[in-house]
Amino acid sequence: MAPPTVVFFPFWGAGHLMSMLDAGKRLLARSGGALSLTVLVMQPPTENDRSEVAGHIRREEASGPGIRFHHLPAVEPPTDCVGVEEFISLFVELHADHVKAAISALTCPVAAVVLDLFGTTLLDVCRELDVPAYVYFTANAASYALMLRLPALHEEVTVDFEDMESMVYLPGLPPVPPTSFPLPVMDKKNPNYTWFVYHCRRFMEADGVIINTASVLEQSVLAAIADGRCTHGVPAPTVYPVGPVLSLTMSSPAEQPHECVRWLDLQPPASVVLLCFGSGGFSTATQAHEIAHGLERSGHRFLWVLRGPPVAGTQQPLDANFGELLPEGFLERTKEKGLVWPRKAPQKEILAHAAVGGFVTHGGWNSILESLWYGVPMVPWPLYAEQHFNAFTLVAYMGPAVAMEVDRKRNNFVDASELERAVKALMDSDSDDGRKAREKATDMKAACRKAVEEGGSSYYALGRLYEDIRKGAVRMSQ
Ligand code: UDP
Repeated sequence: MAPPTVVFFPFWGAGHLMSMLDAGKRLLARSGGALSLTVLVMQPPTENDRSEVAGHIRREEASGPGIRFHHLPAVEPPTDCVGVEEFISLFVELHADHVKAAISALTCPVAAVVLDLFGTTLLDVCRELDVPAYVYFTANAASYALMLRLPALHEEVTVDFEDMESMVYLPGLPPVPPTSFPLPVMDKKNPNYTWFVYHCRRFMEADGVIINTASVLEQSVLAAIADGRCTHGVPAPTVYPVGPVLSLTMSSPAEQPHECVRWLDLQPPASVVLLCFGSGGFSTATQAHEIAHGLERSGHRFLWVLRGPPVAGTQQPLDANFGELLPEGFLERTKEKGLVWPRKAPQKEILAHAAVGGFVTHGGWNSILESLWYGVPMVPWPLYAEQHFNAFTLVAYMGPAVAMEVDRKRNNFVDASELERAVKALMDSDSDDGRKAREKATDMKAACRKAVEEGGSSYYALGRLYEDIRKGAVRMSQ
């Protein structure tokens, strides 16, 4: 008989899809062929996302057998949504019947279903089918701890979090300024907030929660979750910290290095600061001018991934038009010191390069893990999702970063002098803050690599996950 399968149901955003695929592949390898992997693929609502997902799947299929992709029928996207998280949650929920039909039609036993963190509505389908259900949490354990606390905070705090006058106490973390809370929970009247509280409540029903972190990075937070301190003493589902889960397949073959990499080859070691802002980050002309002046005045070498504002009504940043975005003469004046790249760049290959000594990042969790994997210290510049909270944990809790003042009330604006200060603090060889961040990043690089090696904490957590899924599979087949 075919081996039992684990069904993954990711949201299509690259930070979720790729991370879940990679975690699935590790689980598969760990099972030594005792499990198979089935991925249910939604048809994303935009052409751009559809072609991106198709590209990812094509590359996975070409890299060898192992994953079975099952394309679900398209659904009509929800209309009149106010926010991104609301849209994703509703869109995922609309797939419930298709997911149920797809799982029911599988000819091998289903050992478990792994849902995206925005997919908790599908827990009902898993219960109906009596299949163990796990949640894959693509953010860090600190964000998960906050999510576990959110339903209680919802009752305790009557004002919007940004209007709170006191700090929030989250077990395992230093006192948290409420202004660092994730964007979708800042406005309680926004449907995004309601959806967040909904998902947070439902995490408690999962059979386990897989988190893309390593226990050494967030020890006290993981201990607080395990002791029920984030859930008023009620035991929370078992957490499996299996990270860093990074898809380390480089995007360009070694014999054809990317132009950014070829430029880096010409720079001295640890001399370049990278600026890159995730899949959704972009700069207006006003902001780009401030960045340009800040970089120029810092005197440091830079590789700046600059993308322009999306067309109204869409989310996708556009390739940068330098004529519209950059100050006159900037490229000419800085041509010996910097490279501005106008579209998505191969971030992992860049971070892996010895010439990169610092990273100004929007602070998506995948970007943070990639930076730690290569031991690159950071300056967080949060823009959206849970990035303000990541910036707080990175600076105040984990340590491999230098803080920068970001004006959340002005669309996360940073002026030239503050960027100049932060870049110097990160990159200057005589900066105390920079030295501390560099040391911490170097320690964390070693700790992350050790965690995923045989005998490491994440290796052990993956083994425990496999054992628990296997026990579920045995129960299902009886
Ligand atoms: N990324 C990239 N090039 C870019 C921008 C982003 O390769 O120009 C990759 C980055 O390496 C990371 C992912 O896109 O793997 C972004 O994930 P993250 O969680 O950091 O942020 P999100 O895009 O989800 O906000």
